[in-house]
Amino acid sequence: MEKFLGTDTNTISAVEQVLVNVQGGLIDVEIDRTKAVVDGKMMDIYIVRDISEKLRAQAYKESLIEKEKQLIESKEYDRIRTEFFANISHELRTPINIISSAVQLIDSLDLDKTNDINNITKFSGIIRQNCSRLLRLVNNLIDITRIESGFYKVKMELYNIVNVVEEITLSLVNYIESKGLTITFDTYIEECYAYCDIDSIERIMLNLLANAVKFTDTGGEIVVTIYEENNKIVISVKDNGIGIPTEKKQAIFERFRQVDKTLGRKYEGSGIGLSLVKLLVELQNGNITLTSELNEGSDFKIMFPIVDNTLNEENIYNLNLKADRVNMEFSDIYFEK
Ligand code: ADP
Repeated sequence: MEKFLGTDTNTISAVEQVLVNVQGGLIDVEIDRTKAVVDGKMMDIYIVRDISEKLRAQAYKESLIEKEKQLIESKEYDRIRTEFFANISHELRTPINIISSAVQLIDSLDLDKTNDINNITKFSGIIRQNCSRLLRLVNNLIDITRIESGFYKVKMELYNIVNVVEEITLSLVNYIESKGLTITFDTYIEECYAYCDIDSIERIMLNLLANAVKFTDTGGEIVVTIYEENNKIVISVKDNGIGIPTEKKQAIFERFRQVDKTLGRKYEGSGIGLSLVKLLVELQNGNITLTSELNEGSDFKIMFPIVDNTLNEENIYNLNLKADRVNMEFSDIYFEK
């Protein structure tokens, strides 16, 4: 051992671990300082311990732990990827099978028979619905990928959110009532301004309302409420449907997660609607929460920061929900209620 890197003993004693030069090479040492009487004088005694091996073993152990973690992560990634392909194949195949059967049935019709002519309308309706379902799935997949890779652009503009949500909700009353459910719009405020991307707001509302319809039995009730809380505007979409078990509440915002994943499940769906909703809400600086009780219902709340509108010009919202778009977002709903 040649010399300490620090020459001042106070510096050395202040640190526990330093590097020292040993025959041209550096090793890690631990230094303890103690006092002892030598030749009648109180002296500082330094105990220097070579801890290079100990540190190497520690680093090796840490790298093993890190590698094990990476292995677990890559296995989990593999599992999610396999699940993704299984899900996506199922989701693509189901509507394609239905379309193909409907086309075969149309081919077998005898157009001289009135009854068969009437059936064409029925089968073309089935084909249309399943095309919408495929289109929705593909659009959702493309948009999720675009959002995650940063290519999805939102056009943030100032709107009176109360008016926007009211228009969207009211435009769906007839449709929702035709499914045997009631829908109510309730607001505690007349106007409230926030920056948002109107296209995304429409998509979010359609998704939440389509889920509320899908998971609520006939005779059920959907309530859309707006209120202010902590300088945020809160939009609540509440139903008294089947509800969501506590342990699944977080997972449903993840891609391809459904509460019931069995093949014989009652409800169709890809399990990507809510993950897209969450991404769209967050792109607009908002957040989404869920309160739900099994067999009692669910309440999805989205929140956006309120803007003081005294200095701003608002955009006027013109409801632009074409029937095609509504049909597309509601295309998973097969069961007549
Ligand atoms: P999906 O296309 O399967 O409906 P989502 O991402 O929209 O996919 O929803 C994921 C899952 O969350 C659904 O499959 C369902 O299990 C549950 N879910 C969503 N909304 C509701 C609701 N309003 N009531 C009960 N369960 C719901």
